[in-house]
Amino acid sequence: MYSALGRPKRMLLHLAVKFIGNRDLMRNSLLLAMALALVTPAVHAAPPSSEAPKVQRFVSQVKSYEANAYLIESSEGLVLVDGLMLQSDLPPLIGAIKASGKPLKGVFLTHPHVDHFGGLAPLFEAVGQAPLYATQRTADLVAQVNQRAFDQGWIQAFGDDYQKSAVTPDRIVKHEEVLSIAGMDFTVLDLGAMEADNNGALVLPAAKLAFVGDALLSSHVYYVGEGNSAETLLALDKLEAQLAGVELVHPGHGGTMDPARLIADNRQQIQAMREEVAKLIDATPDPKQRPDAALINASLDRLSRRFAAHSSYGFPLRVLIANFNFPGLLAEMRAERAAASH
Ligand SMILES: [Zn+2]
Repeated sequence: MYSALGRPKRMLLHLAVKFIGNRDLMRNSLLLAMALALVTPAVHAAPPSSEAPKVQRFVSQVKSYEANAYLIESSEGLVLVDGLMLQSDLPPLIGAIKASGKPLKGVFLTHPHVDHFGGLAPLFEAVGQAPLYATQRTADLVAQVNQRAFDQGWIQAFGDDYQKSAVTPDRIVKHEEVLSIAGMDFTVLDLGAMEADNNGALVLPAAKLAFVGDALLSSHVYYVGEGNSAETLLALDKLEAQLAGVELVHPGHGGTMDPARLIADNRQQIQAMREEVAKLIDATPDPKQRPDAALINASLDRLSRRFAAHSSYGFPLRVLIANFNFPGLLAEMRAERAAASH
């Protein structure tokens, strides 16, 4: 699927890589993004008929992977996008909900990952239940992903700070459905498999904003460990058109940024990781053999330099790429080659 990309697109990609590869530009763009984040309410003072929504961002701790939740406030009430992970992540969010004096009219879960849905159960206990919206596939996967975290044994490290039972979304929304909550009209996007097995997004056209969960990651290394890198590249190509008119994207990790920059950066990251894993497979065509450690290290060296300006969810960058991204990507690309050879 990667090789299906045309030549002009590749040339553009190389330009994008050159651009994003420049550290000074990257730093400047991060500063710009930070500045934009500070003036966000002024930037989207757009809708003529009603008051512009206020958007507040809440970030979980480094130990719970620096995930974002967004509280969107209209004159009628509050809409929350995602729910953080640990009980100790929640006090600022709970405080803001209570301080607003407005009802929480609905919550949208962007994708079935623990760092985004884990905090919903304790949140609802603290502020009261609200309708929980998600796409069908995300709703189907929440309980399963929660159980897998226990089966794999890593979530137990958080002890009582992680509430054991996950809240399953009770309101299913479909692709391109208009979801009206608290007087705001959101357009739902079901983006399919990308960073997670399913990724949904909310577009708020009146304010030229989008909330995309982990479909787009800002100044963070893209996670391809679930083996969806080829589908992600295709989804990123479509996303440019789907986000037409959107000026600012609120991602699942990292700061607010314009969509073109995020899409270009995320595409470049995934291409770079695929190029490295392709080299490993070329050198080790037998799927039963592990790629040579020296080759893996050389790949990690190159990617570490390339992603030096990106955050890695509290893990050392090499550990994140080697232990979380490479295994899923290797399996995915070996399967692609096997399918292509039949
Ligand atoms: Zn996440």
